[in-house]
Amino acid sequence: MKRTYGMTCKNQRCANYKKPLEGKSCSLCKQALNAAEVTKLQKEIAFSEPYVTKYQAPCVLVELNEPLQKALQITVNKCKQEIMTNNGGETPELYQSLWSSTAEMAALHSIQHQIVKAVPLVVLSSSLDVDELAIQKESRNIGYFFDTCEGGNGAAEAIFSDFTKFTAASYALAAECDCEAGCPRCLHSTACPQHNEPLHKDVGLFLLDAISQAKLNSQNPS
Ligand SMILES: [Zn+2]
Ligand SMILES: [Zn+2]
Ligand SMILES: [Zn+2]
Repeated sequence: MKRTYGMTCKNQRCANYKKPLEGKSCSLCKQALNAAEVTKLQKEIAFSEPYVTKYQAPCVLVELNEPLQKALQITVNKCKQEIMTNNGGETPELYQSLWSSTAEMAALHSIQHQIVKAVPLVVLSSSLDVDELAIQKESRNIGYFFDTCEGGNGAAEAIFSDFTKFTAASYALAAECDCEAGCPRCLHSTACPQHNEPLHKDVGLFLLDAISQAKLNSQNPS
């Protein structure tokens, strides 16, 4: 690859992000092109078998229980209605993922991103020490956190043992971020294997809050 300067799509959620492009708008997300640093492919070598790297590291699995799934569905439906009302019945590109995926997947994936962003606020570790992946297995939505190096570095383990500390810190980080729909500081990540889809800042905030509240209630039954 070579880094140069040229016209590209500056939408971080778009697969054309940082790719050299021609014309006036992006063929994928339709946003206007801008001059910026672009990554140009110099040479490509195809492997006869897919090249895979494997390593072992601790991994945390996150799933939502039924009451939480139901509460989420209600919130997401409300959210969608509000968006439609505010946009004259249209569904803007920015919020498309709420229509193209399930409420649970959008929420789960969003909190995973928000939690990864908050890692340095909770432990002496960086957001690069842990990665996330949200997948659908049969009818289950499953989120994984895993350390990014062989043998592990303790980041996923910290998320497991202090989960509500992480949800509270990521709630504060995202809620206090002045962006409208999520930005690279609080939500989007260029390392996301799912190209930042689906993600929704407010739906993530709702779930982070619900998890933190549930913990408070269980500690203090009154
Ligand atoms: Zn684009
Ligand atoms: Zn933000
Ligand atoms: Zn992701």
